[in-house]
Amino acid sequence: MTTTEASLDRVDEIIDEYLQLGLDGIFLRPLSPFGFAIKTKQFAKYDAQKWLAFYERGLRRVLEINRQGPPFREFYAALLLTRMLSDRPIGYVDLRSPAGAGLGALVYNYDGSVFASDEGRMLAEIGDDAFRLGHVEHNSYNSLILSDKLIGAISSSLTQCAPECSTCVYESHCGADPVYHHATQGDALGIKPLSAFCARQKGIMGLLLDILKNSPEDAAVLRRWAAA
Ligand code: SF4
Repeated sequence: MTTTEASLDRVDEIIDEYLQLGLDGIFLRPLSPFGFAIKTKQFAKYDAQKWLAFYERGLRRVLEINRQGPPFREFYAALLLTRMLSDRPIGYVDLRSPAGAGLGALVYNYDGSVFASDEGRMLAEIGDDAFRLGHVEHNSYNSLILSDKLIGAISSSLTQCAPECSTCVYESHCGADPVYHHATQGDALGIKPLSAFCARQKGIMGLLLDILKNSPEDAAVLRRWAAA
């Protein structure tokens, strides 16, 4: 699901609806600063802290469901926990450094344009071609993935050497997200203390570590997600 302002106070109801429909989990996502969320001004309706409060309440509801009965996962936590507690690759392009844009995915649009990611395609819908790498009729695969545009965005956003990230305790579990930071700050690297992506990452990983350390029953559920 994607969180709109109207969802913020209703996470329990949303999760219970997924459960009633027989689904085995939910992916709690914030709005992204691209396309329709910008056009409709929805993106500006809440900040990272409000979303984190929504997320924590949702995660605790999901854990409560697991204590009472059927297995039910929160998929973003499961991805992060797999990164944190196992050596298995997760294939999630937003949690990589070097960034997964272009290297882990290419998006071929209906008009032949090729983008580094779906978010890059959404940016083009609002007039920003920063992640349009070329055109299917005029560019080979090599010229797309070796384009100056892609190499520039990826090399300038590495978390391993970025200010704040390079000394962050979560760096090995986090990711560079050059498209998000370009969209919100006009810079592929981004100033992390001002980044909602960074605030959410720190908030979620801190919450998961707190549960792993202090709540044995819930920690057992989280460990099962990492091993699934
Ligand atoms: S949590 Fe923030 S500072 Fe830490 S690695 Fe992720 S983006 Fe960088």
